[in-house]
Amino acid sequence: MDFERYMSERLGELRREGRYRVFADLERLAGRFPVAEWRESPEAPAKDVIVWCSNDYLGLAQDPRVLEAMRAAIDRSGAGAGGTRNISGTTHDLVMLEHELASWHGKEAALVFTSGFVANEAALGTLGKQLPDPIFFSDAANHASMIAGIRNSRRECRVFRHNDVEHLRELLSQCDPGRTKIIAFESVYSMDGDIAPVESICDLAREFGAITYLDEVHAVGMYGEHGAGVAEREGLVHRIDVIEGTLAKAFGLIGGYIAGSALLVDFVRSFAPGFIFTTALPPALVAGARTSLKILREGHDLRQAHQQQVRRLRQMLHQAGLPILHNDSHIVPVMVGDAAICKAISDRLLRVHGHYVQPINYPTVAKGTERLRLTPSPVHDNAMLGDLVSALSAVWSELGPNLAGMPRLWVA
Ligand code: PLP
Repeated sequence: MDFERYMSERLGELRREGRYRVFADLERLAGRFPVAEWRESPEAPAKDVIVWCSNDYLGLAQDPRVLEAMRAAIDRSGAGAGGTRNISGTTHDLVMLEHELASWHGKEAALVFTSGFVANEAALGTLGKQLPDPIFFSDAANHASMIAGIRNSRRECRVFRHNDVEHLRELLSQCDPGRTKIIAFESVYSMDGDIAPVESICDLAREFGAITYLDEVHAVGMYGEHGAGVAEREGLVHRIDVIEGTLAKAFGLIGGYIAGSALLVDFVRSFAPGFIFTTALPPALVAGARTSLKILREGHDLRQAHQQQVRRLRQMLHQAGLPILHNDSHIVPVMVGDAAICKAISDRLLRVHGHYVQPINYPTVAKGTERLRLTPSPVHDNAMLGDLVSALSAVWSELGPNLAGMPRLWVA
């Protein structure tokens, strides 16, 4: 087998379909976010651009309090954790962070992983492998990390249509009542920005005796009085068995976690290879996460400022006649519907206008629903919003699809 040729042909297919991913060389500048320095090539001079697609939703990745906590932790404890949690990686800050995350979510315990992806993969994989005769009910739009966990468990999985409670009911009612049922879903779906009918799903879980596993990765820090997510906002925390979150988005760092009963967390801790056999997060990251959590807990004004900028951008795009997908979250998808055009718009925005928003293509979203996913933050000021909308309108009229031909759903 000529592997080199095979790989080159497969990559060629991606290029022809406009789906080949090119990573922009961006240097984030602490204190200047959302401005970053972009280089067209490693030797090219740096140019200031505005980043519109970061998951550092609230700008905490540059918050001086977070940075100071991280510096102090490096001075105190050095760089790495020194081993897995079992060997020597359970640092005091990590013990405290888990207590604080648990209390934030109104749960007995929490367990930190090296990323949100690993948290989902390890927790769902372990529940699936270790619980007796389990069956998963998984929302069709669930993130790749949840799918990976479910697949790794090699257990039966029924996929319900996205946010379709009636379909979920139908599937649950076809299932043997004696089986262990796990409903896995997200609160805020990151690509469409729509929000799950969490209460109705909890009702079904109660009716059919299912475990609820809720991924709040795009909601932690963002919703609820104390920022603990959609379950907090809707008063449903006590009806969710496992809340999964990340330290990588609103927290501005990296890492993931689950929160739940002490027994469930101990169960995952004791059986999950993705938790047991990997080095713990470095102390500086954990110290930074504790500081982020404190800011998020008290971050009502920050959330208000953020939501105001989201509303403002949506309104401006709407007035400019651009096709945004409506939702009730902070994610603003501008629908393009073609991979090559989406990439061309993104390139032109960056090169000519200094705005960076990466194209979102298949397999992240379905073919024909390619888009630009905008995530304005509280530090994107009104002038930046205005400049982006003018630039996008100009680029759209040069390269974008004809708005008249686009499905009604997409047109604001
Ligand atoms: N869950 C969802 C819904 C996500 O969108 C992501 C990443 O974007 C993850 C989990 C993984 O989180 P992390 O980036 O912390 O690995």
